Amino acid sequence: MEVAAVEGLMQDYELSLQHVLWRIERLHQKKEVVTKRDEGIHRTTYGEMVPRINRLAGVLKQIGVKPGDRVATLAWNNNRHLELYYAVPCMGAVLHTLNLRLFPQHLEFIINDAEDKVLFVDQSLLPLLKPLIGKIPSIKTYVLMAEGNPAAADGMPAMLDYETMLAAESESYPWPKISERMAAAMCYTSGTTGNPKGVVYSHRSQFIHTMGVLQGDNLGLTEADSLLPVVPMFHANSWGLPYAAGMAGAKVVFPGRFSADAKSIVELAQEEEVTFLAGVPTVWIGLASYLKESGQRLPKVRTVVCGGSAVPRSLMETMDSVGLRILHAWGMTETSPLGSVARVAAGTREEDELRLRLTQGRVAPGVEIRITDPTSGEELPWDGVAFGEIQVRGPWIARGYHNGYDPDKLTEDGWFRTGDVAKISPEGYIQIVDRTKDVIKSGGEWISSVELENAVMAHPKIIEAAVIGLPHAKWDERPVVYAVPRPEFKGQVTEEEIKDFLKDKVARWWLPDEVRFIDEVPKTSVGKFDKKVLRANATPIKEGMKQEARK
Ligand code: AMP
Repeated sequence: MEVAAVEGLMQDYELSLQHVLWRIERLHQKKEVVTKRDEGIHRTTYGEMVPRINRLAGVLKQIGVKPGDRVATLAWNNNRHLELYYAVPCMGAVLHTLNLRLFPQHLEFIINDAEDKVLFVDQSLLPLLKPLIGKIPSIKTYVLMAEGNPAAADGMPAMLDYETMLAAESESYPWPKISERMAAAMCYTSGTTGNPKGVVYSHRSQFIHTMGVLQGDNLGLTEADSLLPVVPMFHANSWGLPYAAGMAGAKVVFPGRFSADAKSIVELAQEEEVTFLAGVPTVWIGLASYLKESGQRLPKVRTVVCGGSAVPRSLMETMDSVGLRILHAWGMTETSPLGSVARVAAGTREEDELRLRLTQGRVAPGVEIRITDPTSGEELPWDGVAFGEIQVRGPWIARGYHNGYDPDKLTEDGWFRTGDVAKISPEGYIQIVDRTKDVIKSGGEWISSVELENAVMAHPKIIEAAVIGLPHAKWDERPVVYAVPRPEFKGQVTEEEIKDFLKDKVARWWLPDEVRFIDEVPKTSVGKFDKKVLRANATPIKEGMKQEARK
């Protein structure tokens, strides 16, 4: 018997970022937004910011920004960047946050690909912009966000001054009606393989993602928190935290251009009573060392969200020892980025906790996940053993890229191929084994570079380690470790020592062929180990070469 469909009687309310703006105006007036600047701490409130956001929307209109136009930002984590986060999408345009750690040729590609119309730039970032001038013709207007006295911009095009423009506009703005499927923001992937690709978030995806971030079993940010996002506002929208803070009414503390300086972060966190931190593992490796050396502590911090790369066990333990609890999360630019969070289920035995906190956790409500066999494409069981490519779907997962790049990223049945390889336990804990392109194929079997790295980083004399597979005549590929000794052990740790240390921690055939000591692991623009650079500069494996010669 056919059942007649009956429509629900709920309102067709458009999910848009205007709602977050409405909340900060109505409910969170007194909440502070603090920024560390060169000249000292800048302090404002949402109450003071909202009229500025209205003025900013007026500026955008005044300079000819139309719905759908891309408005680029080249800016640190600061209050003006937050104003742009609201004004641009809420007036119908698309906020395009540029990654300030990219090489000029990448920035040039990205700006041209997005056809950005306007560019807002922090004064201290003008040197980054300089090599691009003359190569980014889509930009019709530059707006300078000056600190102190605007610098004479040598060899630069004419620029409007942010504060002067704001002052000339009205404190109220007639926000247009936004349809939830309209583009709100875009971020480019970091382009570790090929050119970067534009991920375009909609108002709807941002809204639902914000609700997801706030969920207690996800990141769980609340009104009572004081949030310090070390993760840049150009890295997948600072993991959605700025909007989550606005929705919840959390205080926000921005590190400005001091995000890489552990001492500044600690001081700022102490002074502003920060409770919630977020950043990639390399940030916390530096911060944990600083805390240990200085004896300083951050007793008010209750959560340190850590994602972007796997959290090494040594880091989790060191952070625990200084009283900072890491909450491990997985995601990617294409997943807005929240994909999974390692909260340990109620009733877990204490001895299992650390192991589970080190997994990539369980998939966020709203997102569905599966792992599939790379050759047959068949779905694999969640038995904690079988591993395959993670595929996801959900309302905040990309279905394509700007300009139609990489059309095969979606499977025929509509799931997004992440390129991450993982196993999933029967309880749903995801354990990322590797990126498909980083996994080492030795004698037909796979070695997880991530697991090996973690094992090496547990050595007390090592601070960082990256593992890559290099060609080998007999085994196809063999693992080679690039390890960075802690400063006090520089020149005092040997290859044999590391190999010995690994012996009872990994399978025999996983033991690296070589351990090479370096001063620093090269990093990508968002602070992850850049194995592409290591591979490009790697000398061949000595033993493998001999066998090659014997052949
Ligand atoms: P991005 O889009 O630059 O944020 O990069 C996304 C990629 O970073 C993912 O596809 C993963 O390979 C990696 N990644 C992010 N979070 C984690 C994590 N918690 N553990 C392991 N890899 C991660």
